[in-house]
Amino acid sequence: MNQGMLLSGAVTAIFGVIFLLMGFLPLGILILVGLMIFLLGIGAPPSEPVKPEDPAKKFCWYCMEEIDKEEKTCPYCGLDQVEEGSKRD
Ligand SMILES: [Zn+2]
Repeated sequence: MNQGMLLSGAVTAIFGVIFLLMGFLPLGILILVGLMIFLLGIGAPPSEPVKPEDPAKKFCWYCMEEIDKEEKTCPYCGLDQVEEGSKRD
């Protein structure tokens, strides 16, 4: 189920109803189009969720995986991370 398609289908159908009520009879086709998008949305796979940018995360220097900012070693590739600050003992 694809929420985006369900939503746009519903909106399209609603606009079709509004146009019909306003007297634009040919635009009543939007109701059918909207219903089709809605039905397709039920069968369609969900859209990719958008990943929020986490300020507590950073990208691994080597494999570019998102890891914890405090992580000294990447849990994905096991390589030591380059410290962004100065390298004093
Ligand atoms: Zn890595």
